[in-house]
Amino acid sequence: MVYDVIIAGSGPAGLTAAVYCGRSLLKTLVIAGSVPGGQLMLTTEVENFPGFEEPILGPDLIQRMRKQGERFGAEFIQDDLTSVDFKTRPFKVNTTGTTYETHAVIIATGASAKWMGLDSETRLRGKGVSSCATCDGFFFRGKETVTVGGGDVAVEDTMFLTKFVNHATVIHRRDALRASKILQDRAFKNSKISFIWDSVVEEVLGQQKVEGVRVRNLKTGKQHVLKCDGVFVAIGHEPNTAVFRGQIELDQKGYIVTSNGTSTSVEGVFAIGDVRDFQYRQAITAAGDGCRAAMDAEKYLEEKGLRAH
Ligand code: NAP
Repeated sequence: MVYDVIIAGSGPAGLTAAVYCGRSLLKTLVIAGSVPGGQLMLTTEVENFPGFEEPILGPDLIQRMRKQGERFGAEFIQDDLTSVDFKTRPFKVNTTGTTYETHAVIIATGASAKWMGLDSETRLRGKGVSSCATCDGFFFRGKETVTVGGGDVAVEDTMFLTKFVNHATVIHRRDALRASKILQDRAFKNSKISFIWDSVVEEVLGQQKVEGVRVRNLKTGKQHVLKCDGVFVAIGHEPNTAVFRGQIELDQKGYIVTSNGTSTSVEGVFAIGDVRDFQYRQAITAAGDGCRAAMDAEKYLEEKGLRAH
């Protein structure tokens, strides 16, 4: 059996594509990933997705999108993509257990958290070093944490942590946050949060668990030790494109290159959301991308006479 469309990824981009493809009666399979749902699964309250005047939890929003896709007949499998062959037609898409064939592919595999690249960070990951405040914040009740980064995620995560911790310190490499003004204002007013500017973490301290960080001021070169129990790394993301390398054009940072809407360097393969967008990276822009890709894929299938029905 050959699918009309296979969608790789199940964040807001992939799920919106599933809704639109399903509703266009395309035979659609979503390879959702072994950890489905994308970055919204690691978020608490989403306040800026239109249609929800009250905040909605990230996982709830994803669950609703998935049900909407299923209502229109999209199939879902919870497995990871292991390789693809875009050089044959129909395209071949391999998961850990199975090979699927499809006339069109929509890539929505998103991006993953970046790490600082310190040996001590790797050693203590899961022992106090985390990239997910939503997942791990609960473990730091009454404790001290450090967040590294100055973007929306660093600030949101730190505010979330203040529900549990005694005190949270944000360590940022510049003297100004990148996060949106509204988040900055809230964070500056939060008495549980303090900031260390122009500084980086040189080492995470501790043997079996995190006991502190060694911080270096980039302007003065001075170092000091800050005691803490947890280190949350929130310094951005990398696109999940390893399985597409050699099959499709990627830019220098590994993002998929698109043109004319959502088209990639391979006709019939489309890319959407954070896997190609390092500028906006919002749930709503990813969802908008999902709509575009489904329409682009449908047009492609019609023009090539490839639709199953
Ligand atoms: P980001 O906006 O790229 O911010 C990454 C932060 O980490 C920056 O402050 C950056 O410093 C710092 N950084 C990068 N590499 C570093 C390193 N090696 N060492 C130390 N610091 C480093 O990423 P993000 O916060 O993950 O957000 C991703 C996207 O999601 C953004 O577009 C954001 O707007 C969006 N988002 C939106 C919301 C919302 O609207 N509610 C919530 C969450 C996320 P510099 O500032 O010096 O570059």
